[in-house]
Amino acid sequence: TLPKIAWIGLGIMGSPMSENLVKAGYDVTGFTLEQDKLDRLAGAGGTAAGSLAEAVRDADVIVTMVPASPQVEAIAYGPDGILENARSGALLIDMSSITPQTSVELAKAAAGKGIRVLDAPVSGGEAGAIEAVLSIMVGGEQADFDEAGPIFDVLGRTVVRCGPHGSGQTVKAANQLIVAVNIQACAEAVVFLEKSGVDLKAALEVLGGGLAGSTVLTRKKDNFLGRDFKPGFRIDLHHKDMGIVTDAARSVGAALPVGAVVAQLVASLRAQGDGGLDHSALLRAVERLSGA
Ligand code: NAD
Repeated sequence: TLPKIAWIGLGIMGSPMSENLVKAGYDVTGFTLEQDKLDRLAGAGGTAAGSLAEAVRDADVIVTMVPASPQVEAIAYGPDGILENARSGALLIDMSSITPQTSVELAKAAAGKGIRVLDAPVSGGEAGAIEAVLSIMVGGEQADFDEAGPIFDVLGRTVVRCGPHGSGQTVKAANQLIVAVNIQACAEAVVFLEKSGVDLKAALEVLGGGLAGSTVLTRKKDNFLGRDFKPGFRIDLHHKDMGIVTDAARSVGAALPVGAVVAQLVASLRAQGDGGLDHSALLRAVERLSGA
């Protein structure tokens, strides 16, 4: 029989991901802070829990998909949380993007309660979650990775164990560096092209077919063309991730000269009140710098 799953965090990513598990036949009990998201899971065939403790109590596998390290720590260590209430032998899969250090500490603390942990952050965005084609980068024990394999296969397409606890998060930090720099390059090209009077739709179409083509360009093209910055992936979250990669790189002595500049632009957008917009809104930062 399939493991019983508790899913904590039904946001932009967690809702479609948990629903894909329901569709695949899993018994999924969810908990999140918004009632409408709980209702949505129940409507899709899952179960809405009244509390975190109730959700995790008899779960075989607990998945967390929440914004950042503080939320993962509250859910894991709080009085209503996983370490107090989950059964010994349960497997905790944290799919949030958090600091590698938090993942390492969580694995250690949970082991004291007989709970195994994998860090398994994802890339592919809301579309990747809905279409179940996420890249899933995993840190933790091989045996736990193997046990979680069927669940990962429902949620994603490229699933790789990268090493011990925390290494999934380190790879995700690198992912966020590449994505941010790529969006920034596209945004600069868009402003340059428009100011030059070239048809932007035509330009982006042909750029997408050459070496400049990328998943970012393909997936964010309509955001750029329509100035549609509905998230997607919020600037607030990318700001958090640029902080994670900046700190992690400094701690190992890796230089991120371009990443550091893009991190400043992300921080500036947030400071100007644009934290709730999609990260393609880096276009706005370039427009402001260009007087556009
Ligand atoms: P979101 O803000 O849409 O959703 C977060 C969810 O967590 C909310 O439903 C909220 O209720 C829940 N939550 C927060 N604190 C909680 C608590 N204490 N108890 C229970 N639930 C709680 O965020 P998202 O875009 O779904 O992102 C989730 C994670 O996935 C983040 O770490 C993000 O960096 C990462 N991520 C997001 C994307 C994307 O494109 N949106 C892509 C890859 C990775």
